[in-house]
Amino acid sequence: MKKLKLKKISINKKTKIIALSLLFALVIAIVVMLCLSATKDEDKARTSYKMTLAYDAQTHVLSGSEEVTYINNNENMFTYLYLHLYPNAFREGAKNSLASVSTQDELYVNGVSYGNITVSSVECEGEALEFNVEGEDENILRVDLPCELYPDEQITFSIDFSVTLANINHRLGYGNNTINFGNFYPILCVYEDGVGFKTDLYHSNGDPFYSEVANYEVSLTYPSEYTLASSGNVLSSQEGEDIVTANILGENIRDFCFVLSDIFEEVCANVDGTQINYYGYRGDNNLQTNLSTAQEALSTFNDLFGRYPYEVLNVVKTNFVHGGMEYPNLVYISDSLSQEDIAYVIVHEIAHQWWYGVVGNDENSHAWLDEGLAEYSTLLFFENNTKYGVDCEAMIDSALTSYKTFVRVYGSVNGEVDTSMDRPLSDFATEPEYVQNTYTKGLLMFDSLRKSTGDRKFFKALKNYYKDFCYKNVTPAEFIASFIDSTGYNLENFINSWLNGEVVFQ
Ligand SMILES: [Zn+2]
Repeated sequence: MKKLKLKKISINKKTKIIALSLLFALVIAIVVMLCLSATKDEDKARTSYKMTLAYDAQTHVLSGSEEVTYINNNENMFTYLYLHLYPNAFREGAKNSLASVSTQDELYVNGVSYGNITVSSVECEGEALEFNVEGEDENILRVDLPCELYPDEQITFSIDFSVTLANINHRLGYGNNTINFGNFYPILCVYEDGVGFKTDLYHSNGDPFYSEVANYEVSLTYPSEYTLASSGNVLSSQEGEDIVTANILGENIRDFCFVLSDIFEEVCANVDGTQINYYGYRGDNNLQTNLSTAQEALSTFNDLFGRYPYEVLNVVKTNFVHGGMEYPNLVYISDSLSQEDIAYVIVHEIAHQWWYGVVGNDENSHAWLDEGLAEYSTLLFFENNTKYGVDCEAMIDSALTSYKTFVRVYGSVNGEVDTSMDRPLSDFATEPEYVQNTYTKGLLMFDSLRKSTGDRKFFKALKNYYKDFCYKNVTPAEFIASFIDSTGYNLENFINSWLNGEVVFQ
């Protein structure tokens, strides 16, 4: 009996073990299948842009076409789509100035100059589609679809366009040293459920951009005397008589940008599997120094936030009116910077590869989300790389003094000062008001958040935030919820009091 019983138990146990094993295997198989299908769906669900472009250096015109495959991942049915036409911000008579008044001299080195974008046709399967250039300032292209586009359906259409570059040291334009192609093509406006298409106008404050992560295939022809630095990976290049055609693939990137120059000198390194290229000007004596800073930034942020997911990062010296500018896989570093400012700008722009590039946000409405965090990440870099000799506590003190001075001076001049952070770019009356409330106060807020939660929870929260919102766009509410979830602290009132301007500094 005992034996039998034992045997019986043994059989039962064995059966249970087999059943449990089968169940376990089944669960694993289902999880793997779900993961695979999720990955597949995510890949399938990306919008793609296939561009064929040619740049004529004599006329300063970039012409070509883009084939857009758009997948409706929203809850609504569409009969039309909107795309941004950012180059029209450079045209004569544009509503908003391109940069603050204080930078006009550095903007136009050869006198005032204009550019624009012209759309000549839009087609779908060989049929012409109705389109219209509209928006508050000719900043939007409306494309009427041939039929209703329901959720989960997709459509492919092509746009023929040409961009005339202004002679200007800006994101888009040709200067004395480089030709910059930032925000040059029609890019789909983000559609927010319950809100609609986000068609915000260009603004001189901040980086007035907002887009979804997409896949890019670009064939770019340019004069052979130039060297190319671009988003994505250059897969191959064909040399013609006086021209080069580069074939570029950019996967999971939220924008595509490139820079040409006939005076580039390039140095390269590898950091954790990412090729990092620094493009300086021929004869520069700081190529290796700047490359090292870029390497250290990439390495530091890989450790602090999570791995950079791309194979290439280009750090590019350009004629650019501001300190720097971030694009996926490519950052501008202004050629007007002094050597002591270069390291800071390289680090700040590389931080944007995490905060803007991988984790995106509406930069028009919530600029503090990426700028504040990029600024605080720069401080974290110096804290982790003490050889730069930056005193991080002094950096915070200086930010605090700067912010208090701003509040005092603005208060005395205007009677009152708006100290809220979370508002559209157009709501900031001046550039100092924007910079102080977005960068300076952003840095102070993240420092305060870290001191309140403690290092362990703060860095865990940053890592989770990066992982959970990889390739997505995040809202302030999602950012707050993510930090509450990771730290276990109810930070809603704390963060909102910073954003609403209720935090008062003594
Ligand atoms: Zn920035």
